[in-house]
Amino acid sequence: MSVFEKFSSGPQAKRQKIDPKINESSLSLSSSSSSCAHWYVLHGSCITCKSTVDKSHGRAFDYIFDGLQLSHEAVVLTKCFTTKFTCLNEKKLHLVLDLDHTLLHTKEVPRLSEAEKYLIEEAGSTTREDLWKIKASGDPMEFLTKLRPFVHDFLKEANEMYTMYINTKGSRVYAKHTLELIDPKKLYFGDRVITKDENHYTKTLDLVLAEERGVLIVDDTSNIWPDHKSNLVDISKYNYFRLKGQESKPYSEEKTDESESDGGLANVLKVLKEVHRRFFSVEEELEAKDVRLLLQEIDFELNEESVE
Ligand SMILES: [Mg+2]
Ligand SMILES: [Zn+2]
Repeated sequence: MSVFEKFSSGPQAKRQKIDPKINESSLSLSSSSSSCAHWYVLHGSCITCKSTVDKSHGRAFDYIFDGLQLSHEAVVLTKCFTTKFTCLNEKKLHLVLDLDHTLLHTKEVPRLSEAEKYLIEEAGSTTREDLWKIKASGDPMEFLTKLRPFVHDFLKEANEMYTMYINTKGSRVYAKHTLELIDPKKLYFGDRVITKDENHYTKTLDLVLAEERGVLIVDDTSNIWPDHKSNLVDISKYNYFRLKGQESKPYSEEKTDESESDGGLANVLKVLKEVHRRFFSVEEELEAKDVRLLLQEIDFELNEESVE
């Protein structure tokens, strides 16, 4: 059975792990119109042979372009090409970031505790550039979003070394509103924003167009990445507002915050820099480098240090 047959066998194929090794014969299918493999499909029609293509073919990439579907072969090849290109030309790897409790914390206004209500006035004022009121049109609910300390510097620096994605379980509208606060000009994420629409129960790197050996993930919820634990960089959960059942006073009520220089994002940035440095240390070995192994190495060294 060819790779093409294996991957196009109905909805089951969607959940299949993508095999990074594709053979020459499957690649050549795309150039012959009689046996077109429908690599790129737009609104249900193959852009090469114009045939109508089923929704279950390959994978939907609406987040990049509405109605875009790529065959599994196209995904594998695009991932491979992207990683090669960004490594060689830009000296960049890829980074997937979560939003809630990683880059920011959001709470519904009606759920604020008595001691937090002073924040409603402060949100969006000239004295508070880290606290904003957000509200989707047509939705009566108002939210307060608190940016994590160091987030702007973190994004600026990480962007020098990594092509960045957002992957959130929040809705597309929510992502749009919060990204206006941290990336208003779309300099960092562009359209690389994966939301609830694409994530079902868990998150996956299948939707990230880069090889897994070159992708790091920063997410406070590691369980949501069952297949990609080795790509994860640990980060502490950022809680600014009072959580349900919380006993200690939150930052909001204490009127204090996580440290800029020694908080979650500053510490993660050190790891990102170190992985990047080691990945690009010997140019001839780029093809063989793997961020997952480098993370293991760094973790091991840090543990050794803490034992000594
Ligand atoms: Mg989170
Ligand atoms: Zn076709």
